[in-house]
Amino acid sequence: MILFSFLLVANGQSQTMADQLPENYRKAYQAGTRSADGKPGPNYWINHASYNIDVEVMPANGSISGKATISYTNNSPDTLTQLVFRLYQDIYKKGNARQFPLGNSDLTDGVQISALTIDGKSYDVEANKVSRSVTNMTVQLLEPLLKNKTAEIKIEWNFKLPQKRFVRFGQYRPDHLFAAYWYPQIAVYDDIDGWDKNEYVGMVEFYNDHNDFDVNITVPGGFAVWGTGILQNPAEVLGTAKARLLEKAAGSDQIERIIEANDYQNLDKFTNFASSTWQFHADAVPDFAFAVSSISQWDATSVVVDSASGRRVLISAVYPPGQTHYDQVAGIAREAVQYMSFQWPGVAFPYPAATVFANSLKTGGMEFPMMANDGAPDDFADLQGLTYHEIFHNYFPFALGTNERKYAFMDEGWAHYFPTGFLAEVSPETIYFQRSIHNYAAFAGSENELPPMIPTYIFNDYTTQRMAAYTRPAVAYHLLRQELGDALFGSALREYMRRWQGKHPMPYDFFATFDDVAGQSLEWFWKPWFFDRGIPDLAVEAPDEHNVVSIRRLGSMPVPVYLQIDFTDGTSAIIEKKASVWKDGKHTVEVSVPSQKTIKSMVLGNEWIPDSKPDDNHWQMR
Ligand SMILES: [Zn+2]
Repeated sequence: MILFSFLLVANGQSQTMADQLPENYRKAYQAGTRSADGKPGPNYWINHASYNIDVEVMPANGSISGKATISYTNNSPDTLTQLVFRLYQDIYKKGNARQFPLGNSDLTDGVQISALTIDGKSYDVEANKVSRSVTNMTVQLLEPLLKNKTAEIKIEWNFKLPQKRFVRFGQYRPDHLFAAYWYPQIAVYDDIDGWDKNEYVGMVEFYNDHNDFDVNITVPGGFAVWGTGILQNPAEVLGTAKARLLEKAAGSDQIERIIEANDYQNLDKFTNFASSTWQFHADAVPDFAFAVSSISQWDATSVVVDSASGRRVLISAVYPPGQTHYDQVAGIAREAVQYMSFQWPGVAFPYPAATVFANSLKTGGMEFPMMANDGAPDDFADLQGLTYHEIFHNYFPFALGTNERKYAFMDEGWAHYFPTGFLAEVSPETIYFQRSIHNYAAFAGSENELPPMIPTYIFNDYTTQRMAAYTRPAVAYHLLRQELGDALFGSALREYMRRWQGKHPMPYDFFATFDDVAGQSLEWFWKPWFFDRGIPDLAVEAPDEHNVVSIRRLGSMPVPVYLQIDFTDGTSAIIEKKASVWKDGKHTVEVSVPSQKTIKSMVLGNEWIPDSKPDDNHWQMR
């Protein structure tokens, strides 16, 4: 019991979330860019870029070359003396740092920049105004960018797509590729950190402003293109018959087979021209990705996501012939987008399209705005869950531009949790989330199990990152929903999404919005689940002579009590208490059962409640 008294002392001295508030957040509250009740402050600002890009893809050698004009507007109150560009493809550059080995086969010379001008002034990318570190290129501006001013950047570049080791994109087959992280992208300058200078070394994903894109993608004859946003010239590239079919799909629940496998031999528009240029437009998206293929089938349909306006979202599945279950993916994706819009989170899908591209790998998936680059798992429920997960990211971190480089739990936690309800409808036998609860409980308390609030870019270990970004926050969101009930949890979540759509919410904005809507401080929940180390562990003790049963909290994580009691007379009872029963830090909860009955056995907990040490969850009369 020495350990027990030690915990009491430690709890008594622990700091509050306010005590630990980092200095950059304190400054943001003072500057009025954010407010302590979780709303964007009166002085909130976010920078913006418009990208106009012409890009040519040569599948024969995997090369991509582009020319962009970028209009970047400084909405901050600061004068910017530098611009930071991300050249993600430099992760493949020889000699660069990476969180996982890539082997020699895909190593390149990185992104070649052949021209760079800013506001008409030419920059020598080899000279000292321009520096490249790992994947960042920092340009010291000859003329500073003043507040409320727009800089016009012109840049030309080229690189080669990876052919063997795929990290979120690549040329999967000679005739089938997914291009992502493919253009020089201006990093985020925000009110919390200024320039985001975290290098892309493999593990971290998105943090981008909500930008506009006009992208013209030129491919050789015989290839089709799918991209973020809406195709602007369908009749020109697909021919009028296919364009009409696509228009039909955009207005109906029917699945139309826009391109079938044998079309590639017959489609004049593809095959009779040396090349074709596919034009896409997208508004308010944090990134742009595209796929190129001369083998993929294309199924399309659409779904109403807002019953008031009748707005529809175009759903597409793009896959090589024979890809397991993929003839059903357009239907799965349509149901998923409907579920997201009307059930969880119950907010109309934020973009006009969602395309699932099957890359021809077995597992894994990667989200981009309106585009998912997915594997084809054999298990049908796994495919349903994967399809939901990657499309769901359009809410977080896309519509709500969370900083996944620092706080991956703010998007991956939700994307991991919300397929639970969808799968319960479409594949009721699956134990998807119970498995996650078990995995978290089994890993909790180990030395490399770390709290979600530790900045994601610090993690170097896959399991640690996975648990902190996906599993543990998903379990916490689930328990919070049990605590608040569906109605209150749903209104807090939707209010948070309403407040921060098109902006950059940070964890404190999320915590404070839930507190604000719930009308109570949930610090007793946030702190252990998001900031602290610890385990979930309850134990049941033998009933005393008055039939009082003590439930002991041996771990620091607050979890609900679920106790099943079987009596000697053959009857049974279930006693439930919310996680908030522990909120004042107590370590024992007493439960009274009718004194005339004799308890035969008790089981504490169930598969929806994590418990790292389940051995003390049973009691049996001797
Ligand atoms: Zn994800």
